[in-house]
Amino acid sequence: GSKNIEEVFRAELSKYNLTKEVKLVRTGCFGLCEAGPIVIIYPEGAFYSHVKVKDVTRITEEHLLKGRIVTDLLFKEAMVDNKVRSINEVDFYKKQQRVALRNCGVINPEDVTEYIAFDGYKALGKVLIEMQPEDVIETVKKSGLRGRGGGGFPTGLKWEFTYRAQSDEKYVACNADEGDPGAFMDRSVLEGDPHAVIEAMAIAGYAVGASQGYIYVRAEYPIAVHRLQIAINQAREYGLLGKNIFNTDFSFDLEIRLGAGAFVCGEETALLNSIEGKRGMPRPRPPFPAVKGLWQKPTLLNNVETYANIPQIILKGSDWFAGIGTEKSKGTKVFALGGKINNTGLLEIPMGTTLREVIFDVGGGIPNGKAFKAVQTGGPSGGCITADYLDTPIDYDNLIALGSMMGSGGMIVMDEDNCMVDIARFFLDFTVDESCGKCTPCREGTKRMLEILEKITQGKGTVADIEKLESLANTIKTSSLCGLGQTAPNPVLSTLRYFRKEYEAHVHDKK
Ligand code: SF4
Repeated sequence: GSKNIEEVFRAELSKYNLTKEVKLVRTGCFGLCEAGPIVIIYPEGAFYSHVKVKDVTRITEEHLLKGRIVTDLLFKEAMVDNKVRSINEVDFYKKQQRVALRNCGVINPEDVTEYIAFDGYKALGKVLIEMQPEDVIETVKKSGLRGRGGGGFPTGLKWEFTYRAQSDEKYVACNADEGDPGAFMDRSVLEGDPHAVIEAMAIAGYAVGASQGYIYVRAEYPIAVHRLQIAINQAREYGLLGKNIFNTDFSFDLEIRLGAGAFVCGEETALLNSIEGKRGMPRPRPPFPAVKGLWQKPTLLNNVETYANIPQIILKGSDWFAGIGTEKSKGTKVFALGGKINNTGLLEIPMGTTLREVIFDVGGGIPNGKAFKAVQTGGPSGGCITADYLDTPIDYDNLIALGSMMGSGGMIVMDEDNCMVDIARFFLDFTVDESCGKCTPCREGTKRMLEILEKITQGKGTVADIEKLESLANTIKTSSLCGLGQTAPNPVLSTLRYFRKEYEAHVHDKK
């Protein structure tokens, strides 16, 4: 409903001749989706939530004309002891640290001057004028940044491999093909702060020796695509993309490539095939993209969130970034929190924050007084984590040790009413649909798993079926060609690990 609210605000501002005094800015996502649509009025920082079209006149007449905050329309925690609390003081934001999301909800993403006003393109200027490509790579390596798209591979090492590869031509690519159900981290960054990604890709181009980049983004994200194109055009207009950036010898430009909704195109080699105009199917690795990527040339591929961290690392230094997080997982991570949770939304927390803090402090706990049962991290490639592990600090290694994974950052919370066998079936159904069909274990194996799961949920399964399901899952995990098949059995394996009794409760021949 935000679009309608914006239109009515414009009409009200013009009705009261306020268009010169009041600047109306449409931003990207604030993160607290549960409270949307959100309107914040500065300089007071009054945080209005769940705004409806009918509220706009009151806010205009009371707040903008008379300077009186409309307290009954404020977010529930935004007024304490008659004092207005800023958005950063409410519980949802208190434990967050926004690095990748720093400008989302703050600037107008369609205006490059607002990005520049918040130190935008300063990092690009710094690397081009003060740093050699090797220094940039060293800074990224020392920061400890790891890929935020799922794998968690050290970003600086990837940059170094691409830099060292010998070739007359190299490319930089961005994976914005976010396909996990319930995940919208990349979408929010692209909609709220597209220049952060553009600036980072130009920095990466300088570091690895590439002059052309591609952003592969889902066509299902029309606002992200639209804003990205505006941002690319404005960056070209301001000399921040194109030839001789900042009057140096460095030239770099970007193009958008639209994905057509295949989940497998989020896999790096399938994505490269798709950019080349071929069918989006994974290629065997090695060779890795850093050696032979787009059109067989060395290609650096990172995802949106990984890139969004880069300008801050360059400006604030590797020590600053490495000072956030845990020993092996540095910095922050963005999560899309959904399911049975009070504060559905997008959050960014330092690595090492516990699941309990995310679910109960930031997420506000489980609605309707129900008990927490499990949280699925890593989307369809991840697994379920139970209440026993709520105090686990979130990092790449801890989540893998629990049979799940960080993935790109989807986090779906389940309460006591959820059937874990149904949850596993839901995710498996998704991966069966999305399997590209290239290799047999994934193409055939996941289908057979789904058939067994359906038999079990219909009460027609046996104990032997549970065992067959488990054995098939382990085979598919070890023998599939790409990450999609290798991780597709995870939701089944993790629910079998923690909730085997629920599977047994469905079968008819249990003792
Ligand atoms: Fe395709 Fe699945 Fe094989 Fe990946 S694992 S190549 S998605 S069939």
